[in-house]
Amino acid sequence: MRKIQMVDLKGQHAAIKDRVNTSIQEVIDTTAFINGPEVKEFQKELEAYLGVKHVIPCANGTDALQIAMMGLGLQPGDEVITADFTYVATAEVIALLNLTPVLVDVLPDTFDIDINAIENAITSKTRAIVPVHLFGQCANMEAILKLAKKHNLFVIEDTAQAIGSHYRFNDGSTKKAGTIGNVGCTSFFPAKNLGCYGDGGAIFTNDDDLASKIRKVANHGQSVQYIHDEVGVNSRLDSIQAAILRIKLRQLDVYNKARILAAQKYDAKFKAHPRLTIPVRADHSNHVFHQYTLKLNGVDRDALRAHLTQNNIPSGIYYPIPLHLQKAYLDPRYKKGDFPVTEDLCRSVISLPMHTELDDEQINYITTMIIEFINV
Ligand SMILES: *Cc1c(COP(=O)(O)O)cnc(C)c1O
Repeated sequence: MRKIQMVDLKGQHAAIKDRVNTSIQEVIDTTAFINGPEVKEFQKELEAYLGVKHVIPCANGTDALQIAMMGLGLQPGDEVITADFTYVATAEVIALLNLTPVLVDVLPDTFDIDINAIENAITSKTRAIVPVHLFGQCANMEAILKLAKKHNLFVIEDTAQAIGSHYRFNDGSTKKAGTIGNVGCTSFFPAKNLGCYGDGGAIFTNDDDLASKIRKVANHGQSVQYIHDEVGVNSRLDSIQAAILRIKLRQLDVYNKARILAAQKYDAKFKAHPRLTIPVRADHSNHVFHQYTLKLNGVDRDALRAHLTQNNIPSGIYYPIPLHLQKAYLDPRYKKGDFPVTEDLCRSVISLPMHTELDDEQINYITTMIIEFINV
């Protein structure tokens, strides 16, 4: 059996190696390392894939969130609502910009941000909601859009884990994750569903005016060279990364399909087990399985992980500590027990190896090892 990886980037690379090498060499030969033609081409191809008017590439997913918030003109003291159960980047940029992060709990089945909790958290200072399409599945966007409209709020989608997934509206129409709110943000970190060979990110919007503001923020606050209208940042996608992403974007649906198939194979082995809850699929979204995350019911998680490690099976805990209990985000507004679902999930979830190269032998081995451990 091949060695099991949490994410098998080597196996994925092997299949596209020649094309990637050629593309990288071409960028080097032209020396167009910054804002070269590959960046523009990738931008256009991603716009077409997502069905969105504007893609603005940038340096990473965290920058994408920060630049989106700056482009929307959010001001210190503005409140921004996001989920307590997410990667830290989402709340980090809110805090960095001196906005006020307002955390809310998630739902115990889909891990999706809780709509009622959002509504209860809205005040006269609220300016934006940041739903996170966690683990590869869209948040309940229709309900979020409705709330946003009612209270005149911006919706900033954190699509770092769900690129290529789509949201299904009640009328049956669909849109790609990240193209539904005012603005979408994604990451091309290597382990993401569409990963480059270093850091990368992008911002999506259908709003022409917002797109030009975002381009300006990402480019030192200038729309004409050496004319700076506002304080911006320097955040660019390298041409070499764009060239690699062009190759991988053509495979994205195939990659996501491989993840979905692997998830179905895991499901088949785990679904009848009373001490395991398999990932719950929301009615309103497909799931592209950035992570395959089980909920353990009465299983010693540390002991299970130690057993897996002993048997050369990696695993991950996303996330071990709720944001409101992280030292950097401690706030007198929040205390232990305030977000019981998130606190429970942080104790009970475990993520299994999930990538495009998992084979049946590996999946059988992983599932057998887990079930054997739980059954003793
Ligand atoms: C990965 C990730 C980010 C940040 O992306 P980087 O490219 O690492 O900066 C933001 N939000 C979520 C939910 C992520 O998973």
